[in-house]
Amino acid sequence: MLKNPFNKNSLVNQYQSLINQINILETELKTLSDSELRAKGFKLKKQYENNQNLDSLIAESFALTREASLRTLGLRHFDVQLIGGLVLNDQKIAEMKTGEGKTLVATLPACLNAITKKGVHIVTVNDYLANRDQVSMGQIYRFLGLDTGLIQEGMGRLERRENYTADITYVTNYELTFDFLRDNMALNLTDVVLRPFNYCIIDEVDSILIDEAQTPLIISDNISTPIEKYIVAAEITDYLELNIHYKVDEKNKNVVLTEEGSKQIEKILSIQDLYDTEDPWIPYIINALKANSLFFNNVHYIVQNNRIIIVDEFTGRIMPDRRWGDGLHQAIEAKEKLSIRQKTETVAAITYQNFFLLYPKLGGMTGTGKTAEIEFEKIYNLSVKEIPTAKPIQRKDLPDLIYKDQFSKWNAIAETCNNISSTGQPILVGTTTVEKSEMLAQLLNEYKLSYQILNAKPENVRRESEIVAQAGAKNSITIATNMAGRGTDIILGGNINFKIQKKLYDILTLSKNYIVSKKTNIFQSQLMRQFEGNSQKFISVLLSLLNDSKFLKLSDIDILRILRENDRISLPRVSYQCSIRFLINELVSYYKKHQEQENKIVKNLGGLYIVGTERNDSRRVDNQLRGRCGRQGDPGTSRFFLSLDDNLLRLFGGSKIQNFMQTQISDNSPLESNLIAKSLDSAQERVEERAYQQRKILFDYDDVLNKQRNIIYFERRQILESKSVQKDIFAYGEQIITELLLELKDETVSLIGNLFGRNLFLNSSREFDSYELKIYLFNEFWLTYQAKNQELSVYGSKIMENLERTIILIHTDRIWREHLQKMTLLREAVGWRGYGQKDPLYEYKREAFLMFETREEILRHLVIYDLLRSSIL
Ligand code: ADP
Repeated sequence: MLKNPFNKNSLVNQYQSLINQINILETELKTLSDSELRAKGFKLKKQYENNQNLDSLIAESFALTREASLRTLGLRHFDVQLIGGLVLNDQKIAEMKTGEGKTLVATLPACLNAITKKGVHIVTVNDYLANRDQVSMGQIYRFLGLDTGLIQEGMGRLERRENYTADITYVTNYELTFDFLRDNMALNLTDVVLRPFNYCIIDEVDSILIDEAQTPLIISDNISTPIEKYIVAAEITDYLELNIHYKVDEKNKNVVLTEEGSKQIEKILSIQDLYDTEDPWIPYIINALKANSLFFNNVHYIVQNNRIIIVDEFTGRIMPDRRWGDGLHQAIEAKEKLSIRQKTETVAAITYQNFFLLYPKLGGMTGTGKTAEIEFEKIYNLSVKEIPTAKPIQRKDLPDLIYKDQFSKWNAIAETCNNISSTGQPILVGTTTVEKSEMLAQLLNEYKLSYQILNAKPENVRRESEIVAQAGAKNSITIATNMAGRGTDIILGGNINFKIQKKLYDILTLSKNYIVSKKTNIFQSQLMRQFEGNSQKFISVLLSLLNDSKFLKLSDIDILRILRENDRISLPRVSYQCSIRFLINELVSYYKKHQEQENKIVKNLGGLYIVGTERNDSRRVDNQLRGRCGRQGDPGTSRFFLSLDDNLLRLFGGSKIQNFMQTQISDNSPLESNLIAKSLDSAQERVEERAYQQRKILFDYDDVLNKQRNIIYFERRQILESKSVQKDIFAYGEQIITELLLELKDETVSLIGNLFGRNLFLNSSREFDSYELKIYLFNEFWLTYQAKNQELSVYGSKIMENLERTIILIHTDRIWREHLQKMTLLREAVGWRGYGQKDPLYEYKREAFLMFETREEILRHLVIYDLLRSSIL
């Protein structure tokens, strides 16, 4: 039961009675056998089937999960973790500090919600983490009779569908969202992989729902691009002067042309009107100027293999799959004199923001959510709850040190690394860019310090996680862009898993090579020396491996792969895999003792020392870095080193501060001032507020398109799922006739005839009164349809049914796709057009609505036209 310190906490009070119930049930569950526990799990499912009430099952389900976790992983959920689980189940965000065990927390609401059999998605930020979590937590689920799925990059549709059918599926935000978009382009129900959404838990929810929320995920086709214009526009910027021809708004990342600028460009291009909609130049010019003055190599992007790759400004992570939209990417390619890649046309797109709002039940976890509380609340209706830590936090956050310039700052950082590491205390330095990491590395070389450097490249995720895991080892210095190896547990004294992999790799490759080259004598003596301290059983399993011809055929690389993937395979099948797993487990128990000693030593040295090299635009990112030390009540220290010319201070610090500091700071010595710290905090808050407002505006704009997408996807899904759409086809035909007759003109009949693909024998529509004419045309439509039906039926009884469905789907997609392009243009236009007194958002919404309204009519015409003309070749 929770003791005193937490009782003051209202969150704890709120859940106290449930926690008590879970704890009481635990005593009872302890006495049950494994199979009795499993039977309890099945009973809960039955109970839910009968009363459809999940709330009444919370305590029992949580208690079961806790017991299953203890029996499978040896981990018993702490009471604070139960609170975390309850918060997640209540559709809120659980803020839990790094190292508090969020992975384990998610199992509680996951098991509970899996009872509904409607599926639970646990979303992580990369494939490596999804895999790791599914394999480890999967043991709990399996124990309780629940199955788990895992989605990984490169999986085919069938495999995806199977994994989504599982009770609980681990998947990245990226894969999940693309699966959703692809599902909504499927022409057959069998191609759809996702089930209807039920419950989703997002890990690192702030990075997904805030930092990445608004970059849309796009499925696109290439379209031809006016490459010339990008190149010319890039050249023209050489003839334009800042503040004369154009102005740069660094804060809002915008560029505006002055009157004089427009004239100058028109002169150079010998054109009349820069803004001419028939032959527009303005977007190319603006993008070229932005590319020159706001987007810098090695800061906002890197050039790799002749391509521009975006670097996430907050995290330093590179994002190879993303491209800036609206021609900016091409403008930067032109600036860097790279070949310009085709502009693409969006076929389907959605932002994470709108995607995750589709879940009827949503919860999130993060170490740093509180500072974005308002945004979570307003946009997602998710409140943030701070969960108490299991043990009191011992981390010391030292006041920032502020230096006169970058030179003094980086030297001070290097010197600090040198001083701190002289005792053996491990250091983790967080940088914002790859370039800065490398510069620091050079400075450390001068001190002859050894270090690891990590850049958060997606292809290195796994390796970086392994290295970050060692960041807590004695004597280690790790330089990492902020997000490198995120989600990885930094254990003081180092993480033994990695060490073990390396050790076993050495042992296995060495002994295999001796056997293969038949140098058994040397091998014997080497063997004994290598394995001092290992058990007899260890040696005998190793020897049996060396008699296994399949094992001997493996290359060194194969062995490396098997070791690295050991934790991915839940049940090894091949016998040498089983042996290798046994050897790993033996080494784990051997090294554990060593690890415990190292852990004590590093704790005595003060734990991990975090060095921040710049305050970020958001306090969250700073807190993420700080939070990498002081895990689970460990000691730890964090300190930020800043300089007057850091972006944040320069742009948002205000001139007073700048002047004050210039006079206060002498040469290389730093300033440590509360005033500055406060003003930095408020600068950060202002930047956050501004970023939030911008996201909010985008969200409001996106809202229109989002509603339209929901309608289209809903209608599309109904068509996709219906056995026959014949009724819709008849309705389309009749509606077309009725509409055309409403504005009866001389050519109406021939228009309809044209649509049906045959001549209607009628001299003049005036011969009939309108009612008779309508009946006549309905009849004609019906006859044409029947004739087509008969013509096609020779190819199979289902042919007409399938054809009708496919034609409706294809045209729905085509219209939607055109609508998307028009909306993009409308969006740009709204930005450029002066609306006078009118509200641009309102105008945008109004026009978007009008554009969308016509789609049904267009669809009807296209479908009937195509269907009645179709033939099988
Ligand atoms: P977070 O994602 O919150 O930073 P992790 O899920 O990576 O934390 O877990 C951190 C470490 O804490 C892991 O090594 C995990 O095994 C351990 N851990 C989590 N919950 C418990 C528990 N109830 N008892 C013991 N260890 C735990």
